Amino acid sequence: MSEGRTIQRVGVVGAGTMGNGIAHVCSMAGLDVLMVDVEAGALEGAIGTIERNLQRQVKKEKISAADAEGAVARIRTATDPAELSDAQFVVEAVPERTELKHDIFARLGEVSGPETILATNTSSISITEIASGVESPERVIGMHFMNPVPVMKLVEVIRGLETSDATTGVTVALCERLGKTPVEVNDFPGFVSNRILMPMINEAVFCLMEGVAEPEAIDTVMKLGMNHPMGPLQLADLIGLDTCLSICEVLQRDLGDDKYRPCPLLKKYVAAGWLGRKSGRGFYSYGEG
Ligand code: NAD
Repeated sequence: MSEGRTIQRVGVVGAGTMGNGIAHVCSMAGLDVLMVDVEAGALEGAIGTIERNLQRQVKKEKISAADAEGAVARIRTATDPAELSDAQFVVEAVPERTELKHDIFARLGEVSGPETILATNTSSISITEIASGVESPERVIGMHFMNPVPVMKLVEVIRGLETSDATTGVTVALCERLGKTPVEVNDFPGFVSNRILMPMINEAVFCLMEGVAEPEAIDTVMKLGMNHPMGPLQLADLIGLDTCLSICEVLQRDLGDDKYRPCPLLKKYVAAGWLGRKSGRGFYSYGEG
């Protein structure tokens, strides 16, 4: 299997919050990126977001205008996953639903070459389970980027039961090439990051529902009292309330423990389409853009 440094063609499936960030950092590292989404509008939106984020980096003099231009030029888009046939490394970032991930990985197993590494950015779903539908599960791995991807250093690298050492080695090398710090963990619901983070966010929603305090007060207590850079409700809005709900459901179901039960208020907001920043409203309201 090829070494990390020889990876040149990367596919990103899902062009939402995480997918556009992953495409951004891959293209800035000089990789050719094919971004695939079922929604043509999502692809257009993702390119716009990447351009805006790159321009922000140019303004801050972190990168040159030529670097930004080169990065955008290296990203192509498609609505058909069959176009990923020559990708050497694919990162999936579609919504956090087990069935959907299964379908995508079955399709990726068909369209990709036998050497292609298939990584998932899942926040909580078992890598072993996602890999079970692929003929060669040794090339499936978890590559859990943090949001916002261009800013956050950590990538949790999760080995499924059958993930090979070669797959892990290439993935770790790719993370380093993207300027990230990979941390290897084992496959368990929520891994390390969301096993610890989500119960805190969920508890903050219970505090709100039970009238313990207003959202601003809850967030200020955690920012000033615990030195967190963002409050838990602000962070939930950034992550996406639908994603938070899905993670809590996975933790409750797969760990078999009701201490992870999602707060009814979180469910209510998701049912109303209040998904946080991406829908313009969550625990806070967000203006256009
Ligand atoms: P999102 O809702 O912002 O974007 C998902 C994208 O996938 C959308 O553009 C949608 O059109 C597309 N999509 C849906 N079905 C598809 C299909 N069949 N083929 C191709 N594209 C499809 O979601 P997100 O927040 O980017 O989350 C994506 C994944 O990343 C999830 O597994 C989530 O748990 C994980 N994750 C999210 C965060 C976060 O903070 N949002 C952080 C780390 C990991």
